[in-house]
Amino acid sequence: MRIVMIGSGYVGLVSGACFADFGHHVTCVDKDANKIARLRAGGIPIYEPGLDGLVARNVAAGNLAFTTELSEAVSAADVVFIAVGTPSRRGDGHADLSFVHDAAREIAGALSGFTVIVTKSTVPVGTGDEVERIIHECNPAAEFAVASNPEFLREGAAIEDFKRPDRVVIGIEDERARAPLEEVYRPLSLNKAPIVFTRRRTSELIKYAANAFLAMKITYINEMADLCEQVGADVQEVARGIGLDNRIGGKFLHAGPGYGGSCFPKDTLALMKTAQDHDAPLRLIEATVAVNEQRKRAMGRKVLAAIEGPVRGRAVALLGLTFKPNTDDMRDAPSIAIIQTLQDAGAKVRAYDPEGMEAAKTVLSDVEYASSAYAAADGAAATVIVTEWDAFRALDLTRLGAAMADPLLVDLRNIYRPAQAEAAGLRYVGIGRPGKS
Ligand code: NAD
Repeated sequence: MRIVMIGSGYVGLVSGACFADFGHHVTCVDKDANKIARLRAGGIPIYEPGLDGLVARNVAAGNLAFTTELSEAVSAADVVFIAVGTPSRRGDGHADLSFVHDAAREIAGALSGFTVIVTKSTVPVGTGDEVERIIHECNPAAEFAVASNPEFLREGAAIEDFKRPDRVVIGIEDERARAPLEEVYRPLSLNKAPIVFTRRRTSELIKYAANAFLAMKITYINEMADLCEQVGADVQEVARGIGLDNRIGGKFLHAGPGYGGSCFPKDTLALMKTAQDHDAPLRLIEATVAVNEQRKRAMGRKVLAAIEGPVRGRAVALLGLTFKPNTDDMRDAPSIAIIQTLQDAGAKVRAYDPEGMEAAKTVLSDVEYASSAYAAADGAAATVIVTEWDAFRALDLTRLGAAMADPLLVDLRNIYRPAQAEAAGLRYVGIGRPGKS
């Protein structure tokens, strides 16, 4: 199949490279000329484990190409995926669909022969109808079908998720889209991935319903952690005790500083707005959004409360800035609000992140960047673990404590056992655990 991916970001680049690896001919398009130049020169604009090798292999095999010129690629394509960003619209939280609509207009002018156009971006219910309308309006003679195929990959494990998904969801309104999309995903049948065909609006909603549910699950255990701190229970054991029930499941039950990233915050907000607009408000999601929003600053206050004496002018070390490990993505990372809260109290923030510091520099100000966890901790009033990178899982706690002015470890990911930290001479504060919380 000849596939075009419009948008070569986290989703477009990973999906494009994986489709190429399946043997399809893929052209990844992006309007960001720097990104395309870097890809053409053999570089990878994002950090995603394994992506460099996958891209290099498929470029060398002639299955994967990069361009800023959409027209030529689209006119030769069987299937065109739209994988552009759908950020929150400024002001009201609805999904900003301007990139999707622009892409639809550009695609419309380039279509030649029957083509399936697929929204892979996360888009609100009804966007497929609008994409169809735009293309028809721009090019009334075009032969096309518009399908929905939301992406469920997780950054940090994106290639594995794409190649071995729990399911592939495809929403179609026009039967002519079915066979080409079956062909696109046929290699996955070897991996026994269920392909769920449904209607387009249902498919669009499945993506939001999944993300909102996961965000709600995280928020549920986070609130349970707060209760644990008040009543002397251990949230780790509560999570294990409920997660072993198959109806609940143990995943996404790790208490922490609140969810962040490029998807959950904007998708929960967009779903909430869609539901309100259709007079079917989703109260659980509204509560999830509100609880998570206030939690991030509350984590900053938790650090401040744990520090003995005045905070103003003292250094606080942050380990991990990205919203989760194995990515350089800083979009809506909890570290942003935590740092703001610490800075508001007059603390000097010194941070270390294995991959995220370049991206962090574009969203954070007045932060000093360190070359290692120990360098960050040097002379600090507290060290705070914000992101559970592997590099922070086996720190020499004695060395860490010795480097600090006050040996206080605030572990917002519960990586360490309190007794282990205390044995190394640290004062330990975790999330939702008995004793000092
Ligand atoms: P991203 O910002 O990393 O990439 C989007 C790319 O699209 C950018 O490089 C941008 O330059 C390009 N672009 C925008 N308009 C274009 C146009 N008209 N023509 C060509 N290129 C254009 O975004 P992302 O993280 O890959 O997310 C893309 C979509 O996938 C979003 O809707 C997101 O919600 C969804 N999604 C993301 C993830 C994730 O983990 N990042 C997972 C599942 C779904």
